[in-house]
Amino acid sequence: MYVVATPIGNLEDLSVRAGRVLAEVDAIAAEDTRHTQRLLRHLGIERPLVSLHEHNESARVEQLLTRLRAGASLALVSDAGTPLISDPGFVLVRELRQAGCRVVPIPGACALITALSVAGLPTDRFTFEGFLPAKSGPRQRQLEAGIARPETRVFYESPHRIRDLLVDIDQVAASRQVVLARELTKTFETLLDGTASELLAQMEADSDQARGEFVVMLAGAPADERDADEVAAETLLQALLD
Ligand code: SAM
Repeated sequence: MYVVATPIGNLEDLSVRAGRVLAEVDAIAAEDTRHTQRLLRHLGIERPLVSLHEHNESARVEQLLTRLRAGASLALVSDAGTPLISDPGFVLVRELRQAGCRVVPIPGACALITALSVAGLPTDRFTFEGFLPAKSGPRQRQLEAGIARPETRVFYESPHRIRDLLVDIDQVAASRQVVLARELTKTFETLLDGTASELLAQMEADSDQARGEFVVMLAGAPADERDADEVAAETLLQALLD
């Protein structure tokens, strides 16, 4: 089975290899078959589609495994970007690998990596936290839990919660740099950076800045705000490496 990354906006970002694999497999398991059908139509590809989403993934595994054992080839795609990254596919990949099937990655677009590549924040270490909880209380607690860590933190957020997330970041890390990557690879691609309250002010002044899809990147703790244990561990590691 091939795990195939698809574009996150700009259709030119589909790799030549991804296009070839999608055209050659016996069937494509897709998060939303109508969505993937549009991509395939654009590519001039006609292949049978089966749905695989968070509600039927476990039930589908046996069926797909039976087809693979019978010699069929399959591709797994999600609506955008790399499957399994805040998208379905984990259960399927785990089960197929446990069953001894070959699982082949076909790499391509991924919003978090695309965003980090242009944010200008340290990328030597980062934490990807996906979507934070929808409710403010748990969201603030998760934000706070990592606030003394030195690495860049990356979150996914939808347009209807982006302001709420910035309000919570302002509560727990008012002076920290935040970079917002909006609508990556699309017509209205924008990178904004500032503190959370500065970004909220920009959205207040121009409500278009709160539209679309977002990757939110939060700078890590500067040395004087780091956890003492963290600093001690880093110093020790550095001494061992020197
Ligand atoms: N599998 C995808 C990937 O590889 O990045 C992520 C899927 S997740 C369900 C969707 C979230 O990814 C969006 O809510 C947004 O946070 C982020 N995202 C996807 N496309 C994006 C884009 N073009 N610009 C900014 N963020 C994007």
